[in-house]
Amino acid sequence: MSSRIKAHGIVPRKSLGQNFLADEATARRIVDAAEVGQDDLVLEIGPGAGALTKHLVKCAGWVVAIELDQTLIPALREELGEAQNVTIVHGDALKVDFVQLAQDAARMFGRPFQVTRFVANLPYYITSAAIRRILECGLSIASVVLTVQTEVAKRVTAQPPDMSLLAVSVQFYGRPDLLFRISPNQFYPQPGVESSILRITPHNRPPAIDAQKFFRVVKAGFSQPRKQLRNTLAAGLKITKSEAEAALRQSGIEPGRRAETLSLEEWKRLVVYLC
Ligand code: SAM
Repeated sequence: MSSRIKAHGIVPRKSLGQNFLADEATARRIVDAAEVGQDDLVLEIGPGAGALTKHLVKCAGWVVAIELDQTLIPALREELGEAQNVTIVHGDALKVDFVQLAQDAARMFGRPFQVTRFVANLPYYITSAAIRRILECGLSIASVVLTVQTEVAKRVTAQPPDMSLLAVSVQFYGRPDLLFRISPNQFYPQPGVESSILRITPHNRPPAIDAQKFFRVVKAGFSQPRKQLRNTLAAGLKITKSEAEAALRQSGIEPGRRAETLSLEEWKRLVVYLC
């Protein structure tokens, strides 16, 4: 497939995270992992020259492919041939309105979609921002299947005592699973690091707790790595240490613990006592 990229005259742009998938079997495996059905809407971020898109249009009801680099769009159109069930959007996935795009696609599809899914071989420089944007966009999403750096996939799926702000943020909205790894030689050009397929299955129920309050507390907790929660919460929330200690004890959390050791349930309890 690298020869296909070259045949289109594409010169990969590092600044846009352009490492194109160069292995046909891996592309199919990623699309299979997304379990796309004929009545499903798929929003794809960064279709590039269509390595995943050309498989997605065969199994989805409709595909909306959002690509920032306009110079790739002719190659993408050519790759997709006669496919009628696709909208190519030239835009920034960190700025476009996913809800509006989904509504427009539903009008063209002519009937409601069964479910909405996201699929992306993500440019690494927007990984965290894109995940957050997808999970907070307000659509009811059945699955998010992403190619990310293995390091990021491990951080997202971590459990106590190795939690991070990213792990808590993702797990607040859904269940992440690292599905399989992809070696650098399956991309053109080869990235310097190994990639993994990460699937996030959103909870799709309204959170029992206000997201803004939740993240204010969690961000305060993680504001000073490896420091005790009584100190990080006091500094981050501008409360006294004894107030922070009291809330921690009421939540059943020893005040000397570090943010990395707390489970999602413990964070939720803490937010109730602090807010
Ligand atoms: N999906 C293709 C594949 O697997 O071969 C390309 C993947 S490549 C890692 C990432 C793609 O995302 C590139 O085509 C790049 O131009 C595009 N991209 C980068 N930043 C973007 C953004 N903010 N919004 C949408 N697409 C973006």
